Amino acid sequence: AKETGKARCVVYSPKHSGPPEHDISLEAAMFQAVREGEFLLYYQPIVDARTREIQGFETLMRWKHPTLGMVPPARFIPIAETNGLINLLGAWALKAASVQLKQFEEVAKRRLYISVNISPRQFRNDKFLDVLDDALAFSGLSGEQLVLEITEGTLMVDPIHAETILSKMALRKARIAIDDFGTGYSSLAYLKRFPISVLKIDRTFIRDLPGSQKDGAICNAVLDLAKHLDLSVVAEGVETEEQLHYLDDRGCQYIQGYLTGKPMPANVAMTALKESTYA
Ligand code: C2E
Ligand code: CA
Ligand code: CA
Ligand code: CA
Repeated sequence: AKETGKARCVVYSPKHSGPPEHDISLEAAMFQAVREGEFLLYYQPIVDARTREIQGFETLMRWKHPTLGMVPPARFIPIAETNGLINLLGAWALKAASVQLKQFEEVAKRRLYISVNISPRQFRNDKFLDVLDDALAFSGLSGEQLVLEITEGTLMVDPIHAETILSKMALRKARIAIDDFGTGYSSLAYLKRFPISVLKIDRTFIRDLPGSQKDGAICNAVLDLAKHLDLSVVAEGVETEEQLHYLDDRGCQYIQGYLTGKPMPANVAMTALKESTYA
């Protein structure tokens, strides 16, 4: 009956009011959102810690609902993962981001890469390699310019299957990044077993730097491990100059966070690129 009720009327059918049905209604709205084209892609710069030059972008999905406004991915990705819509959305994101990178490169006049999140269900989907090939063929991107972000959990559900898929991705030269590194339920043995190229240190280990001794120890250990395994490291969620300097001093080469650029629409990213490019 109040303001929230009003917004709900548009999106949720009246018999679906109350907590358990809430997500069902959001789910129904998602199918409509796909038809209406309400999903967008934002791009967050990944920069060189020393020069701050943009090296690539992480693709982050957004849902701009006409009355609810921006629905955060933390709310709609889990639903899409449950009902399978993630396969459709994920395929679209991979293709659209690959095409977008070509345009970014035209502006920057140099090589860049694009990083795309792959959910567990997408990774396990039979069609995933076809989707990947389609995105590369359609955009004309070469495999090396693509980084696929997966979590430790994705690898651990079915390691034998993961090994097959990852080796096929390696044939296409696409790189694999472990997202939220260190937060999953897994062992380090998979770093030896699978062809991993990038570790993304989770924001929870960065947030309390440089004050936290424990987080500092964890970051140092990850950087040391990465160095010896010849992996690149991206520190996520860097918000302060102190954090950047701390990480740079310890050999962390790549930074992603609000300090060096929030997730932004493609046209804004284009402006950021012009400013970041010394041609
Ligand atoms: P993620 O992959 O770990 O993405 C990083 C998240 O941290 C993003 O949240 C980003 O906006 C946020 N972030 C980046 N820098 C900072 C910072 O300096 N401070 C703070 N506080 N946050 C920062 P976002 O965009 O809300 O996405 C949340 C999660 O949703 C992602 O976490 C990812 O797991 C998922 N997601 C987003 N887009 C996609 C997608 O296209 N496909 C799939 N499968 N998942 C996606
Ligand atoms: Ca990610
Ligand atoms: Ca992450
Ligand atoms: Ca995360």
